[in-house]
Amino acid sequence: LPVEFLQALPVLKKIIAHGFEAYFVGGSVRDVLLGREIHDVDIATSAYPEEIKAIFPHTIDVGIEHGTVLVLAGKSEAEHYEITTFRTESQYTDYRRPDHVDFVRDLREDLKRRDFTVNAFACDVNGEIIDLFDGLTDLSERRLRAVGSALARFNEDALRIMRALRFASTLDFKIEQETFQAMCERAPLLEKISVERLFIELDKLLLGKDWRNGVELLISAQAWKFLPNFQQDALEKLLTDLSVDFQFENSEQAWAALLTKFEQVDVKAFLRQWKVSNEFSKAVADLVEAYGLEEWTLMSLYRFGSDKARLVDDLKRASGIAVDPKKVQLLDKALQIHQRSEIVVAGKDLMEEFAIKPGPALGKMLKRIEEKIVRNELLNERQAIFAEVSQALTKEKSF
Ligand code: ATP
Ligand code: MG
Repeated sequence: LPVEFLQALPVLKKIIAHGFEAYFVGGSVRDVLLGREIHDVDIATSAYPEEIKAIFPHTIDVGIEHGTVLVLAGKSEAEHYEITTFRTESQYTDYRRPDHVDFVRDLREDLKRRDFTVNAFACDVNGEIIDLFDGLTDLSERRLRAVGSALARFNEDALRIMRALRFASTLDFKIEQETFQAMCERAPLLEKISVERLFIELDKLLLGKDWRNGVELLISAQAWKFLPNFQQDALEKLLTDLSVDFQFENSEQAWAALLTKFEQVDVKAFLRQWKVSNEFSKAVADLVEAYGLEEWTLMSLYRFGSDKARLVDDLKRASGIAVDPKKVQLLDKALQIHQRSEIVVAGKDLMEEFAIKPGPALGKMLKRIEEKIVRNELLNERQAIFAEVSQALTKEKSF
């Protein structure tokens, strides 16, 4: 067992000592078997939520209606475990969330409701793998296969189509034929899924190690048709323009890369449809705009900042566009300031020194000073700035 599981072992043993069953389940078991890093340890149990709460003194109801209780086995976050009662889900009348969940005492029922065979393992306290759907074979052949009837499973919850594409990217798996057929057939149901949930999966897809595999499957399953604003052309360009081994560094860069492949796109309007945060939207819009710049200048570097400049340059380089690797570094060194607050003179200093009143004229003056400092036409020093202001004021008066 990996350390993460060993650490959680006392929790499982305590549940078992109270006469219930408890197993590691879900993505962490899959990732352990694949030798991948694990990020969250999911535990499933035959005990009902109330029974879990009676066993452990410190718990939080994080999703009790779904059967999930957070057990605080220690102070650190690593010792907090989500423990979910075995459950079945039924009647997906809207093709998305189950209408209700039923708690059950049988592990097999719980594993049956899971999406893919490699996500449907359970692992007991001895490290014994329970594999009801031949997931180990799929795992060794790096293949994603729906548990049970693929058509029925995508009918129940169409998000699973996006999850399949996402796992194809992050795990570098192929998709078993019947499962893929069902994805193609049921792709129109993606329109029923909230964009927020689609975004999460698509984002993970783009950041996955084998995002090309994910994007290729997104195209061949024609699933892109049911994603807001998507275009096949743009996806294809993304594949052809970027060098084969390129990995996106973060979400902003990935979405910016995609959006540069659209012709004449209003980035913010595009992303509004995806209901992302304004902050995210602005960051992506900045990257797309900066991508369109011929080359960096003091002014544009100041405006976008060196972090974004680097993301843009990496993207350009991966697209075979020549970029001077030293340029950003040199310009960044040449910048006297990186943000307005670094200007040694503030608005109130000007008001005092020159008896200027607050208002648009003052704002304009500050902007002018800022630009001159960024362009290195003015030193960021009190005297130099005052001299500049005084000169500008005299000029204004002489008109
Ligand atoms: P990740 O590595 O991203 O956490 P994961 O497989 O653990 O991947 P989660 O979303 O954390 O995915 O879900 C945990 C488990 O719950 C899955 O492994 C799967 O067994 C089950 N599951 C999650 N979402 C669904 C779904 N939409 N339909 C069926 N089973 C699901
Ligand atoms: Mg998980």
